[in-house]
Amino acid sequence: MSLLIENLSKKYKNGTTALDGINLSIQPGLFGLLGPNGAGKSTLMRTLATLQSPDTGTITMGDIDVLTQAMAVRRKLGYLPQDFGVYPGVSAEELLNYFALLKGLTDPKQRRKCVHHLLNLVNLYEERKKAVSQFSGGMRQRFGVAQALISDPYLLIVDEPTAGLDPMERSRLNALLNEISQDRLVILSTHIVSDVWDLCPDMAILNKGKVAFKGAPSAAVTALKNKVWESEVKSGSSPIEYQGLLLSNRLRQGRTVMRVYNEQCPGDSFLGVEPDLQDAYFKALKEA
Ligand code: ADP
Repeated sequence: MSLLIENLSKKYKNGTTALDGINLSIQPGLFGLLGPNGAGKSTLMRTLATLQSPDTGTITMGDIDVLTQAMAVRRKLGYLPQDFGVYPGVSAEELLNYFALLKGLTDPKQRRKCVHHLLNLVNLYEERKKAVSQFSGGMRQRFGVAQALISDPYLLIVDEPTAGLDPMERSRLNALLNEISQDRLVILSTHIVSDVWDLCPDMAILNKGKVAFKGAPSAAVTALKNKVWESEVKSGSSPIEYQGLLLSNRLRQGRTVMRVYNEQCPGDSFLGVEPDLQDAYFKALKEA
């Protein structure tokens, strides 16, 4: 079951256009929604989650009209917001049990089974008696995933889940997201380019409410092959002259290098380099 977004626009009352004619077709699996702050990612996700309405456009998931059949969508939806509140002192097991009750799992036996299954799935079973408020960032996010999966939703929306996690926690959470995306449609919104590269076979780059790129991350990178060039920027020397589009200034072991997109070598000091998704991301943003 895929998700089809057509001509979606949203202007807030203060005049900000957050979504400006979005068209996207999203297949099952992990889909990356990449964009800088203010690009419209949260607005799009809140709209998909039926928490707010657009001004124009349609969204369909299979045969469900998302904008008019909110209840049908919510039955199939799990949402992991950026920050979710937890009650101090309440254990993971108790809290998940409480959320399951709120989601309508009224049979105690069934509920207990579901809670234990989810705690196992996110690798928190051993920690189930500990207070969620005392969890590390990564454990808390894995708890968030468990909470979002209570009713076994087909559509899972995850908002910047790896922000602030250390590399080990991040890779653990990404492995979990990868696992649960096997039989679901998971939309991962993030500004962390490497998360999208690691996880998503398909993605969109959003910028100023518009889709700046849609496709496979690998295709975005392949399109830049033999067109990305690098030159070291030495402090104190005169600015480097170049032709083409400046993608970024990066630091490498304390040295600054500039990366430029151009069909041919942009200048004397430049060498060709392998492009990566960050180059493709900056190119999409700068050309928009
Ligand atoms: P992102 O999640 O990519 O950071 P948002 O969807 O939060 O983007 O925001 C897109 C634009 O809409 C931004 O300019 C933001 O300031 C504005 N915006 C978001 N929510 C509101 C709101 N409730 N009222 C007015 N403007 C908003």
